[in-house]
Amino acid sequence: MASPIEHLDVAIIGAGLSGIGAAHRLRTECPGKTFALFEARAAIGGTWDLFRYPGVRSDSDMYTLSYPWRPWTAPDAIANGSSILGYLRDEVRESDLTRHIRFNTRLVSADFSSLTGRWTLQLEKTQPEGSTVQTLTCSFLYACTGYYNYSHGHQPDFPGLESFTGAVVHPQFWPADLDYTGKQVVVIGSGATAVTLVPALADDAAHVTMLQRSPSYVVSVGQRDGFADTLRRLLPAALAHRLARARNVVVPLAFYQLCKRAPRPAKAFLRGQARSLLDDDQQVRDHFTPAYNPWEQRLCVAPGGDFYRTLASDKASVVTDRIEHFTPQGIVLASGRELAADVVVTATGLSLQPLGGAELSVDGAAADLGDAWVYRGVLVTGIPNLGYCVGYTNASWTLRSDLSSRYVCRLLKHMDRKGYTVAVPVPEPGMVSRPLLDLSSGYMKRSAEVFHRQGIGRPWTVGTNYLLDVPEALLGDVGANMAFDVVPAPVAAAGARKVA
Ligand SMILES: Cc1cc2nc3c(=O)[nH]c(=O)nc-3n(C[C@H](O)[C@H](O)[C@H](O)COP(=O)(O)OP(=O)(O)OC[C@H]3O[C@@H](n4cnc5c(N)ncnc54)[C@H](O)[C@@H]3O)c2cc1C
Repeated sequence: MASPIEHLDVAIIGAGLSGIGAAHRLRTECPGKTFALFEARAAIGGTWDLFRYPGVRSDSDMYTLSYPWRPWTAPDAIANGSSILGYLRDEVRESDLTRHIRFNTRLVSADFSSLTGRWTLQLEKTQPEGSTVQTLTCSFLYACTGYYNYSHGHQPDFPGLESFTGAVVHPQFWPADLDYTGKQVVVIGSGATAVTLVPALADDAAHVTMLQRSPSYVVSVGQRDGFADTLRRLLPAALAHRLARARNVVVPLAFYQLCKRAPRPAKAFLRGQARSLLDDDQQVRDHFTPAYNPWEQRLCVAPGGDFYRTLASDKASVVTDRIEHFTPQGIVLASGRELAADVVVTATGLSLQPLGGAELSVDGAAADLGDAWVYRGVLVTGIPNLGYCVGYTNASWTLRSDLSSRYVCRLLKHMDRKGYTVAVPVPEPGMVSRPLLDLSSGYMKRSAEVFHRQGIGRPWTVGTNYLLDVPEALLGDVGANMAFDVVPAPVAAAGARKVA
């Protein structure tokens, strides 16, 4: 006899920062729920396990990128990738979460049945002897899959790249044995990854050139947080963490608001900082004066001004130009200048992808996320019993992803109290759309349409202000703009649809 299909109350997809945090919230706020985390890779940590390029680090402070319930105790506020991964491993081990994680298990597709009020998941399990497909059902599907493709990054078609005889490396797949000692390195890009790589490579390389198409804003922040360090010396760890976190919510948010509301002084501040660290007005004019306002694209961070100090030391330089074509020895630019290179690093961004490529359907009909609207930053119109966890792009990811998980727990508790088995947001007529990840960075714009959209105003946005998002997530009416159902319908009430 075939064994019965396993059923879970909640299936969490992904064991990165968001999935691990979601499991904590589910266990503490909905303790009776059965759940598992399904992770395509063989390890936890997502982003912080995948990216291994030299210098990889956060560009958010760790008091807000870490969880509110687990104090960040390492010295640096801007931390390297391996200490973030260590923090996540500690959380998983000490909360005994490993037994809930099914590694090497990728969600391939999920179909929601409005007859049973359940999702049927197709999961591909990779084993040394080959792959198998498993079927499982769940009542609520919580996608903590991040927002980009793990198999490939974004790499533009550079003319003549195939003729280049040196090494070409994408930061997403950094070869552990790449030797760049004494070599001419060109880093293509001007985002957070390029700004991190330049100082990290410059110590050993002969010279590092950052080749950017257009300038970005780079802000210098302290590697350590003096305020948090003082609190940690004087107070118990949990209290110090809470206060440091509160302060690091408010200060970056105030700066973000300044950038949005009064871009001129914000620009003047950023340029002034660059000028004082570089001591070279011409360089600031040529390479650090973007055409856009601060925070229209994610702000790059230089802990302790490392990026600027490296440029000032002549171990590295910036070139703002366009690539005409590659040659066997390097790159010819639109200006006619040639850059010699032994190693080219294409820090050209991520390839955005929802759900790690998994396909969704409702009653067998394909459900396109691109046609849907986000609700309270986490639910999705037209696709019942689905949460998609995304974080902030203007602040630490975790601040938002944790609010989303808490909102999902509130929704599940509300459904249990009322006896509902199906919940779906209902869009309002005439909504005006904006991309889900609302920044004008190239890689965001390129793939905006594959994600669900935001509307204008609550509850149709992924907020950008934690202080306003907290009351919405923790106190907002879970019934507003929602339709609820009870399925399978009780016999007497078959067909009755409860709309709250
Ligand atoms: C280099 C880099 C630096 C960053 N720095 C910062 C920073 O400083 N501050 C900040 O706030 N944000 C930063 N971010 C954004 C970052 O992605 C978030 O901070 C955070 O790590 C996202 O966590 P997540 O769990 O939501 O997604 P991820 O870390 O992407 O984890 C998703 C997990 O889901 C798994 N998965 C995906 N699809 C499937 C599927 N179909 N089936 C099973 N498993 C699946 C993946 O294997 C992965 O383990 C950075 C991103 C990058 C790439």
